[in-house]
Amino acid sequence: MKLRKTFRHDAIQAFQFGYWPWGKPRFTVFVYYIDGLLIDTGQRHMRREVLESVSPLAVDQIFLTHHHEDHSGNLGPLQAQFGCPTYASAACVELMKKPPPISWAQYLSWGKATANRSIQVEEKQLRTSRFQFELIPIPGHAPDMLGLYEAQRGWFFSADLFISDYIKFYLRSESMAQQIESIRRVLQLDFEQLWCSHNPIRRGGRRRLERKLAFLEDFYGRVSQLHGAGQPAASILRELGLREDRFLRWISGGALSVENMVRSVVRDEQAHHGRAQ
Ligand SMILES: [Zn+2]
Repeated sequence: MKLRKTFRHDAIQAFQFGYWPWGKPRFTVFVYYIDGLLIDTGQRHMRREVLESVSPLAVDQIFLTHHHEDHSGNLGPLQAQFGCPTYASAACVELMKKPPPISWAQYLSWGKATANRSIQVEEKQLRTSRFQFELIPIPGHAPDMLGLYEAQRGWFFSADLFISDYIKFYLRSESMAQQIESIRRVLQLDFEQLWCSHNPIRRGGRRRLERKLAFLEDFYGRVSQLHGAGQPAASILRELGLREDRFLRWISGGALSVENMVRSVVRDEQAHHGRAQ
């Protein structure tokens, strides 16, 4: 089943796209358009709908927040349509030359990412005729992720930094320590609207991100304590009363799971102590 919705808020046009082969989509993703700038390109499975929605707009630059397939899935056709430059971080440009493999669940939900060699590196700022966006490194969920901060309006486009107050699963490659650092960096900025790529918060965005930080810090603290006491990941999960989303874990072949959250902390702690020695 396909889902497509749109809304306008201030100068921001938001497009939401979802796809799932059996029934209502479990996950959706947003594409944003502001004053000639298109932020991300949606998933491959919604290509026709994305092109239909975005075609009437006067896009003169595209920005890719990170390489994941739900953000980069329609970059090629949109570049062909608008003939405009695309910008992203240096790490994203490299990853997009040969996107890493994805799990079956990601394929079912989003469709694959296609390699793209026509992206230019920009890590400082983007200008449109009316706005100026400062690019902020926010690694953790993905190593190449950048957020966009518009100081005058108090907008922060956070890509996949927030998603929800309490996260229920992680990809294998995510780093919680980096994510915590990134959120602390973003909270230094003066903003109220949090334009998350999966869950935009139009009012009180800062408070929601603070809540997310508290959740992650608490989770990290508890896992690192149990890990320090010698407990393996499986027993840490039990001890914290965490429940695995078995369907998701099964359908993703373990790429998405609660256990990945625990393992991420263990990895970050080992790297931290490795450095300290
Ligand atoms: Zn992502």
